[in-house]
Amino acid sequence: MATTPLSAAVSHVGKIRSNNQDSGYSGRHLFVVADGMGGHAGGDVASAIATKRIAEADAAYTAVADAESALQAAMIAANSLLAETVFEHSELTGMGTTVSGILRVGDQIALAHIGDSRIYRLRDGTLEQVTADHTFVQRLVDSGRITPEEAAVHPRRSVLMRVLGDVDAAPEIDTKILDTRAGDRWLLCSDGLSSYVAEDKIAQILTTVRSTQAAADRLVKESLDHGAPDNVTVVLLDDDGTDVDADGSAGSGFVGSAAAPLMFEGGGSERRPIRLPTLLLHPLKASPPEDTHFEPEREEFLEQLIEEDRRRARRRRITWLVGVVVVVAAIVGAIALAYQWTQTHYYVGATDDGRIAIFQGVQQTIGPIQLSHIEQTSATRVDDLPAFQRQQVEATINADDLLDAHDILNRLVAAAESGSTP
Ligand code: CA
Repeated sequence: MATTPLSAAVSHVGKIRSNNQDSGYSGRHLFVVADGMGGHAGGDVASAIATKRIAEADAAYTAVADAESALQAAMIAANSLLAETVFEHSELTGMGTTVSGILRVGDQIALAHIGDSRIYRLRDGTLEQVTADHTFVQRLVDSGRITPEEAAVHPRRSVLMRVLGDVDAAPEIDTKILDTRAGDRWLLCSDGLSSYVAEDKIAQILTTVRSTQAAADRLVKESLDHGAPDNVTVVLLDDDGTDVDADGSAGSGFVGSAAAPLMFEGGGSERRPIRLPTLLLHPLKASPPEDTHFEPEREEFLEQLIEEDRRRARRRRITWLVGVVVVVAAIVGAIALAYQWTQTHYYVGATDDGRIAIFQGVQQTIGPIQLSHIEQTSATRVDDLPAFQRQQVEATINADDLLDAHDILNRLVAAAESGSTP
């Protein structure tokens, strides 16, 4: 019999939020994380209602397929319960929640998932995300419109495409069956962890911190160290090769909103608790809703988001183009200035056919471009010059200006004539 628990659940309100809208559950066979969002109010209510309803599916199943069906059915039942609750309390309209859960059956795991909370499996030191985010940005990534790196900083990255709530009577829930073996670590977390702590860091903590509880605590602390702008919830399950239920290491139960009495912001003077099918709600004056998650209710809103994204892409293209034009203009301007500068210089040298000439510009060439041209050619040949002057001309003689160049040329012409007519 194990002496240390093989599962742990930790939830923290974070450093910015006034209330915890996350819920977590660590049971005997079932493990759940839910991240609620409010319309007017009630993100905490949504995650708590869903988690408590789904926790009713915590049982020993003989076949993993049965567990998968039971988990999916529990999530659909939670969805109905949320709709009924909104029907009874219109103040809660628009509330919803992500849910990611696993049910263990021997060496297999039944998984059900909706939203952007995540499930990871750490195996042999490698962390693998086994759920897909049902987010707007993930849809953009899947369709190749943005990269995963762009998605991570996208201003609409928290917009969810699918949740449980009062919006959709038949929510699209991902389910699958995975294997689990001794040494595997299963991490369920809200985006309060995965959006702020890099996967490398999560993997490093899971690989190095042995105790289940200590590892869960350490992950939450890591998010707090990053400022924890959001609620953060971590549920961790260690597979030590034995059945979780058999060794009596049942988990710590509910955490987060699901661990507190269910209350919500009342619309008026009515503070009477209302009995729901399975739950009791107490109105409560709560803090104003915080806008992190927003579930698009209509297709037109989605279109609006996609259009917004297109506009952003267009703006990026225009900015890039303007940048290129500015850089090209600067380069052309600099070249023109440099060329102008070269053309203020003169020198005396020899032409290709051996005559003394005045050149405007400098002697250098840039690739095929000559930075000088002949300004004036004399009839005098370089060969007619005395040896010393000939060498000077062959090496070229710099002039201060055009006038100076003419003086030099005249002197050379005179020297040639006196040299050839002794
Ligand atoms: Ca969150």
